[in-house]
Amino acid sequence: ERAQRAAVPIGPGALADGTHIPLLANLGSVDGVDAALAAGAEGVGLFRTEFLFLDAKSAPTVAQQYTHYSKLLRGFSGKKVVVRALDAGADKPLSFLNDAHEENPALGLRGLRALRASEHILRDQLTALSRAAQESDADLWVMAPMVSTVEETKYFVDIAHELGLATAGVMVEVPSSALLADRILAIAGFASIGTNDLTQYTLAADRMLGTVSSFQDPWHPAVLRLVGEVGSAGAALGKPVGICGEAAADPLLAVVLVGLGATSLSMSPAAIGDVRSELARFTRDQAVAFAQAALAADSPQSAREAVRALAEPGS
Ligand code: PEP
Ligand code: MG
Repeated sequence: ERAQRAAVPIGPGALADGTHIPLLANLGSVDGVDAALAAGAEGVGLFRTEFLFLDAKSAPTVAQQYTHYSKLLRGFSGKKVVVRALDAGADKPLSFLNDAHEENPALGLRGLRALRASEHILRDQLTALSRAAQESDADLWVMAPMVSTVEETKYFVDIAHELGLATAGVMVEVPSSALLADRILAIAGFASIGTNDLTQYTLAADRMLGTVSSFQDPWHPAVLRLVGEVGSAGAALGKPVGICGEAAADPLLAVVLVGLGATSLSMSPAAIGDVRSELARFTRDQAVAFAQAALAADSPQSAREAVRALAEPGS
């Protein structure tokens, strides 16, 4: 008779000194829920709702949206779920939200800007989320994409509160928001840093364009400096600062991001295991030292080398 090997429970993300750093999943559909839980995701840090409606010819109704959101929240019962309002943009066009031709779509009417131009779509989405949350014991947080001003933050947070969503925050993925993080976090319940767009906009290099792809490196000290601004503002105000861009899936960079003040990390479920192992190797003091070394570098390459030398001395 073969002994059954007991499934080893996957523990929460933590540094070597025990500091809890929740490891969350980035999802674009409800189908990914089981895989995320199997990978040990402690919740969802970014649910990209626009992927649900890429083929829709008209705006989804409250009822249609409610069905998706209830399923998602049921899957993460008792856990935190951060849902992002529709992020239509050049890379993810939604015909019912942004079909106008623009010369520079990355700099155009996208993210919250597009929602604001069609406020009924934003209100329908938040209404559907609010209803789904009322019938679930998941901890639903909502956030706005592509926020670039304090005023936009207040606009979004006010509507979310009006519709019964208590925890409303913003994505920090435009340099202006990182630079004003103290004022934005005075209003928003939390920030989630989108390092993909933050890198694109900081380096002024289109993330979709192969000829400038070498600039799309979140180890760039300029990007890390902005992350540090947000981390410091969050710490000063006692507000959570998550990371939901690809940078969080790079195990060593994840440690640096924690050293810069990130309080949770969200990534594709496949990356969670390696990030968990790397975080467990270092204390918070080490993470802070890694962050300082990366910030002191002149380039992404030298930042990486400096942190590697600290992480693997003698190698
Ligand atoms: C980001 O910009 O880092 C992000 C998480 O959002 P998206 O990749 O969907 O633009
Ligand atoms: Mg983005």
